[in-house]
Amino acid sequence: MHLIPTEDEVVGVLRETGALRDGHFIYPAGLHSNEYLQVPLALRYSQYQRLLSVGLSRKLRANPEIRAITSDLSIVTPMTGGLPVAYGVCEAMRAKQVYWAERDHDSEPLHFRQYLEPKRGEHVVLVDDILRTGTKLAELKRLLESFGATVVGLAVIIYQPTPNTVDFGGLPLYYLAKLDARYAVDAAHCDWCQKGVPAENVWIS
Ligand SMILES: [Zn+2]
Repeated sequence: MHLIPTEDEVVGVLRETGALRDGHFIYPAGLHSNEYLQVPLALRYSQYQRLLSVGLSRKLRANPEIRAITSDLSIVTPMTGGLPVAYGVCEAMRAKQVYWAERDHDSEPLHFRQYLEPKRGEHVVLVDDILRTGTKLAELKRLLESFGATVVGLAVIIYQPTPNTVDFGGLPLYYLAKLDARYAVDAAHCDWCQKGVPAENVWIS
């Protein structure tokens, strides 16, 4: 494979590892889709974790503004699928540090561990395994900015936009593959429901 895997190579890895499946799926927020994708199923194999992370780091390093500050860069991820990507990107780029936000209950806001505070003026690249709705990444960006940190880029293995994907404005976005799943907002608008194709409920939106 190349230093930056092609979209076809990335999709091949996802299919081979069961991370990408075809069918009829219902997401927790109610969207129906013809694809199920859980990138962590591919990331459990360290050779793929390395391949995908190094590829993503090379896309980030192609940005001269980011390349100029890598030794001072923080790689920050929302829990938990982004962690193997964040460490792989940090190691490949020789960035400064990795940390993550988490939430104790679904209804509570993201927070950092006690004594972990982003510094005012700190430069951050947000990293995750996938950008789908982007709501968690947008919340993480707001949280970092509330400490005075500056988010300079967003990097994900897979970009799979939905009708509800957050607009990150001019923030540079890097990804290895874009997957255009077909979505329906509910059963009444879903071709597969209308055809009686059995649906599977999936846990993670
Ligand atoms: Zn359906």
